[in-house]
Amino acid sequence: KVSILWFRQDLRLEDNPALCAAVQSGRFYPVYILDDESAGPWEMGNASRVWLNGSLEKLDRSLEGKLSLYRGNAEKILPELAARLGADCVYWNRCYEPWRIKRDTSIKQTLTDTNIDVKSFNGSLLWEPWEVLKKDSAPYKVFTPYYRACRASTLPAKPVPVPKNITALKDDKSLSLQGLSLLPREKVWVERVCANWAMGEKVAHIALEVFIENGLARYKKGRDYPSEKSVSRLSPHLHFGEVSPNFVLDLILKQDNSENRDHFCSELAWREFSYYLLYHFPKLSDENFQSKFDGFSWFGSEKELKAWQQGMTGVPIVDAGMRELWQTGYMHNRVRMIVASFLTKNLGVHWREGAKWFWDTLVDADLASNSASWQWVAGSGADAAPYFRIFNPVTQSKRFDEGADYICTYVPELAKLPARYIFAPWEASVEVLHSAGIELGRDYPKVITCLKSSREKALLTYKGLG
Ligand code: FAD
Repeated sequence: KVSILWFRQDLRLEDNPALCAAVQSGRFYPVYILDDESAGPWEMGNASRVWLNGSLEKLDRSLEGKLSLYRGNAEKILPELAARLGADCVYWNRCYEPWRIKRDTSIKQTLTDTNIDVKSFNGSLLWEPWEVLKKDSAPYKVFTPYYRACRASTLPAKPVPVPKNITALKDDKSLSLQGLSLLPREKVWVERVCANWAMGEKVAHIALEVFIENGLARYKKGRDYPSEKSVSRLSPHLHFGEVSPNFVLDLILKQDNSENRDHFCSELAWREFSYYLLYHFPKLSDENFQSKFDGFSWFGSEKELKAWQQGMTGVPIVDAGMRELWQTGYMHNRVRMIVASFLTKNLGVHWREGAKWFWDTLVDADLASNSASWQWVAGSGADAAPYFRIFNPVTQSKRFDEGADYICTYVPELAKLPARYIFAPWEASVEVLHSAGIELGRDYPKVITCLKSSREKALLTYKGLG
């Protein structure tokens, strides 16, 4: 009697309920299927592929080389595999992207029709989206009452340890990791992203310990300052399931520092809320949550979008953020909000364009968190920041990057300017710029738009929505 354990966004051994069930059942084949076909427009972006490559390598090592890899449509591959290997049960932890729910439902039907059991588990969320509903059984649309209801409901499951006596089998007809061809061709970019990260379950645990040791004590305040090391940088590990939110929560709740600890828990809950929204409103990634935004006339151009992507807008904090993203596959949350507000409001480019670029370049690209966050900043989302609250990038950078350390890390060409001009070089006189060796338009771009008038234009366009 053998079974199949299908790894998806749970690339770990610790606290993995599907793994525990498979081990209990006896011998099993651990498998991973790269299924771009079913993902359609949401096939994994380039940065995610870099991460996945490293993560699968580590998972295979933990499984002593027994992970079997495949590429193609899982709806076709999995039933064929189960038949060929003689499996009587397939185990997996649930995923929540609409395309995955559709695919997995169909696979489950096909397998059960041929007398192969399917057992699915919650391995990625603290609360299942269908467990937390309003009194009238409708889903919440606002974070605070949602989170309150979560806390009043059942406690998240305690993490389960790695099972003993794992007897994994390998399919010798499966692909090698190289056979999946995950790594994009741009070698220099891949190397740079990899230089900033290490993938895998062990590293995820270390990142969590380092955060508890060094970041948690100042998390609530420090999380807003991009040059501080106060955030956990756990997002890609959580996205790929190298560590479970239950494991993280369990360890965090054991710490003393209640104010910072509770704030961190509420950020984990924003991740939950994003999944919750995507589950209940499956069009979140493609359509405005508030349909009144369907009539909004986006006024931005392709050229402006390109300048934003390349970190060449002439607004230092925006360019620093976009360059951090390109160079490391990550961007600090405060800066994500600033660049997203700048793109959608000052440049008038549709939030979907920004979300697409993030999707391709973030190592933590996540359909739920990315879509919910972009809509939140753009003002079109559930429980969104009101549209008229437009971030002023200069004020934001003066406040959260006071010494301009973050800006100068990614926009070093401005480092010689007197500090007060680094935030808004267009305010410096030609003489000041000259003595720092800078000519705007030559050494650093002229500012792409006037912050004041573009803000007014955005507000007027918004008013036009009625
Ligand atoms: P920490 O501050 O250490 O937080 C711990 C964990 O809580 C994070 O790892 C993450 O899983 C969760 N979390 C924190 N803030 C949020 C949030 N606002 N929404 C959802 N979950 C949150 N996060 C992604 O994981 N993937 C994305 O694709 C993504 N796209 C974003 C796009 C925009 C425009 C914005 C404004 C935010 C986006 N976020 C996304 C949310 C947030 O920026 C990142 O989760 C966070 O910066 C990751 O860094 P960290 O792990 O150090 O966070």
